[in-house]
Amino acid sequence: MNIHEYQAKAVLKEFGLPVSNGRAIFKASEAEAAAKELGGPLWVVKSQIHAGGRGKGKFKEAEAGEKGGVRLAKSVDEVKAFSEQMLGRTLVTVQTGEAGKQVNRLYIEDGSDIETEFYLSMLVDRETGKVAFVVSTEGGMDIEQVAHDTPEKIITFSVDPATGVMSHHGRAVAKALGLTGALAKEAEDLTAKLYRAFTAKDMSMLEINPLIVTKDGHLKCLDAKISFDSNSLYRHPEIVQLRDVTEEDEKEIEASKYDLAYIALDGTIGCMVNGAGLAMATLDIIKLYGEEPANFLDVGGGASEEKVTAAFKIITADPNVKGILVNIFGGIMKCDVIANGVIAAVKAVGLQVPLVVRLEGTNVEKGKEIIRSSGLNVIPADDLDDAAQKIVAAVRKG
Ligand code: GDP
Ligand code: MG
Repeated sequence: MNIHEYQAKAVLKEFGLPVSNGRAIFKASEAEAAAKELGGPLWVVKSQIHAGGRGKGKFKEAEAGEKGGVRLAKSVDEVKAFSEQMLGRTLVTVQTGEAGKQVNRLYIEDGSDIETEFYLSMLVDRETGKVAFVVSTEGGMDIEQVAHDTPEKIITFSVDPATGVMSHHGRAVAKALGLTGALAKEAEDLTAKLYRAFTAKDMSMLEINPLIVTKDGHLKCLDAKISFDSNSLYRHPEIVQLRDVTEEDEKEIEASKYDLAYIALDGTIGCMVNGAGLAMATLDIIKLYGEEPANFLDVGGGASEEKVTAAFKIITADPNVKGILVNIFGGIMKCDVIANGVIAAVKAVGLQVPLVVRLEGTNVEKGKEIIRSSGLNVIPADDLDDAAQKIVAAVRKG
């Protein structure tokens, strides 16, 4: 689960990390009071969307020379004007895709005088099973570009969970950033606090880009992006409250209501599969035969007919879907239940694209019979390989 920058900064503040003062606003009429409370003389008006690259982003229908999604303001009037211009508009950044994201919240911040911009992030490194720090002197800009062009400028190390964060980790951060003296001490303190925040809140990713040295010689987190491990949300009700569903994929929200594990992807073949392993194998084999999956969807072990119907509706709601592959191994899940669910769903939403169904396992004959006698135009398949080839061929023909 992701949260907005202003929420992320509130979380960091709880752990004693240095962030600017700021006010989140939802309406342009709130801008003046927010700006006056903060006092100035420099403010930053920041679009709050779940995507980075806002500073260099462009609003749709922008006027010539209009600035991006993060703007420096030098007066209360400028804060007001920018707020009026930005709220409600659609911001397109390298991370939003062409469609962009509507800006419904702004964060008005006390402006900082920047001496240097660094990059710092933390993530769960799946290879080592540890929390890793990624640090670079090349902050503020595209870290992907830095990784590509000058990978030697990115320093990474991980923290052993048995010892937790230690002072040498802090020294490693200071060294990577070329900091000495009082700033090195601040870097050590920052490293320890970040690690505490990361583990206490079960984060899966924390990115501070830029981490700055202010003109008066202190470290500050000027931007903050946090993702939380969704599996841990049950123990963080305070984090769940920060969820902004308007930022999430509608299909994914609908899927979560039915407890379906669904992830939207970019391809054309909609997949309904049971079991995460089989679902991944299905995505792989679709790619092997040269097409791309439109989603990952695991209907789970004991899905009901209602759940299967919901899953089918979610798949067909995606306009990119040019064909559907149902691939079920009936264990706990019975093939006839799946078949009934598929038929009910097709009857409810119609079938505009080819549908290949591969059933195997418990009650397979019953399931196949239900599909045969339904009179629907379903292409039956015998195994995974056969199913993938058939759906790829059908999508290419269509
Ligand atoms: P992003 O573009 O979505 O990553 O948004 P950021 O919060 O990182 O802001 C983009 C850029 O705006 C930063 O890299 C800074 O260069 C600049 N910026 C943000 N806040 C301030 C500030 O308080 N003072 C100054 N001078 N620049 C800022
Ligand atoms: Mg940034």
